[in-house]
Amino acid sequence: MSTVTRDPFGTTARGQEVAVFTLSNDNGAVVRLLEIGAIVAELTVPDRHGELADVVLGFDTLGEYEINPAYFGCATGRVANRISSGRFKLDGETLQLAINAPPNHIHGGEGGFHRALWRGEPEEVPEGVAVRFSYTSADGEDGYPGELSCEILYTLTRANGLRIDYLARTNRPTPINLTNHSYFNLATHDAGSILDHVIRIKAQRYTERDSTGIPTGAILPVADTPLDLRDSRAVSDGLNELQQSGGYDHNFVIDRWDGETCRFIAEVIEPRRGRRMEVHTTQPGVQFYTGNFLSGLQGKGGAVYNRHAGLCLETQHFPDSVNHAEFPSTILRPEQSWQQTTEYRFSTL
Ligand code: BGC
Repeated sequence: MSTVTRDPFGTTARGQEVAVFTLSNDNGAVVRLLEIGAIVAELTVPDRHGELADVVLGFDTLGEYEINPAYFGCATGRVANRISSGRFKLDGETLQLAINAPPNHIHGGEGGFHRALWRGEPEEVPEGVAVRFSYTSADGEDGYPGELSCEILYTLTRANGLRIDYLARTNRPTPINLTNHSYFNLATHDAGSILDHVIRIKAQRYTERDSTGIPTGAILPVADTPLDLRDSRAVSDGLNELQQSGGYDHNFVIDRWDGETCRFIAEVIEPRRGRRMEVHTTQPGVQFYTGNFLSGLQGKGGAVYNRHAGLCLETQHFPDSVNHAEFPSTILRPEQSWQQTTEYRFSTL
């Protein structure tokens, strides 16, 4: 039987109660979700021998999630990824956001959705058990225009998928780019390294980046570069050639994107225990990030997370889209709704 329970997780420094939801299914899969940041705090799935392990990096306490310097497991927004110099023009008006990743803006700014208090409600869905999180970002919050109402529905499916459905509406034009920032290590969250994981990304092109992670505007073929992940490749394989960024930290342009279809776009395999993760999404891009900036971060159960301890596949619109009219638009207007779906599906081989 699939179940969902709600328990207290803690009280924030500002005195707000935060709940944790625990979802489980018949295969022993467990997902724990927090009201702070709509965070995926645990994702336990079986390996090829049926042994269960938690495959996402995270913390034990609310206090640590209130800081969460590496964005473990969270909903990232209002605009995930970087905005050049934190500046852009919207309908003729210049907006300036916080420069929190100098010289750029990143992941929504100093506040950010990853530390916001989302309210969760369990929900019945045909595919399994779900929790719907809601958060209304005030007009002007973190410098972004318009009141933005967001909902994120997390479903643990009977087939060991974690599906994430996003829905947002605004009362004034605003940029939006919501993603989930989970770091996966398919051996177990504290195995230390993802270098032996094998990855495949269905992208023939990527957005070229400068040394600060901002797209130059060029969309280049992955062929003959370490970003050619069209055929399965060990993560360690291309990594040495990516000195400038300390590893993979690139936006891949997903093949055959049509704005609607939730497509299979990437696969990660941990060869020793045989866990396999498929990524499906409606989004046009995915940031493949190999945890290059992790360094001595104390995590769950006494784990210490260092460089390459986990990898992220952040499905998204392209970085700095607000400054690139040629990229798929991230501007949401009052008459529209923002809807995206991403699913991480777990199996074994
Ligand atoms: C970015 C990295 C960044 C990390 C943590 C990722 O989405 O691509 O450059 O270091 O988030 O902020």
